[in-house]
Amino acid sequence: MTTDKIITIIEKISAKIQEEKLFLTELDNVIGDGDHGINLARGFSEVEKKLSTMGDKNPGEVLKTVGMTLVSTVGGASGPLYGTGFMKMGMELKDTADVTVEDFVRVFQVAIEGISLRGKSTTGEKTMLDSMVPAKNAMEEALAAGKSPKEAVACGVAAAKEGIEYTKTIAATKGRASYLGDRSIGHQDPGATSFTMMLEILEGEL
Ligand code: ADP
Ligand code: MG
Repeated sequence: MTTDKIITIIEKISAKIQEEKLFLTELDNVIGDGDHGINLARGFSEVEKKLSTMGDKNPGEVLKTVGMTLVSTVGGASGPLYGTGFMKMGMELKDTADVTVEDFVRVFQVAIEGISLRGKSTTGEKTMLDSMVPAKNAMEEALAAGKSPKEAVACGVAAAKEGIEYTKTIAATKGRASYLGDRSIGHQDPGATSFTMMLEILEGEL
């Protein structure tokens, strides 16, 4: 994936988030404060404005800009967390001009570590990490087993979806949903859901 491809993927992620804004917000209404879709849609509209000027930059710089824009334009917890993830991936890619799915999985691991550090969170707390970590593990295993890049990301999407289902079974202990305690059980996590949408876009582009 060269810069053009990365830009296309980010544009499609943004379009998907705008499309699913109400659904994501509805999920957050049930266990949070009903702004997840609004937050991400606002952040990605700002990102879109920057993309047109990024054609001559390398993929890492594009991802860094995406991350910085999300951190600075999204008020909720998810902006700084997703922002950290994109920035970490961007920094870790350094000057790679053509990003493979192997590269992506490697830098995604660093993104997860950054999110975990910033959010003081780990799996099992009903957050985006409950889709991200299984997705990363599944992609790593699929690549090690010799699957194609697209198949590997498809395995990641399947694991991310299982992660969403898992978030329904547990109580939140991080983020606003933790205020509900056991009353958050039975509802899927908005952040795990938005992440899964993003990974599905990547799969569709391979
Ligand atoms: P806010 O909770 O500030 O209103 P959003 O509604 O945009 O922000 O995002 C909520 C999502 O952020 C949750 O569904 C969860 O996935 C994620 N999240 C919240 N806190 C954390 C955390 N400490 N670590 C990881 N993810 C978190
Ligand atoms: Mg919210």
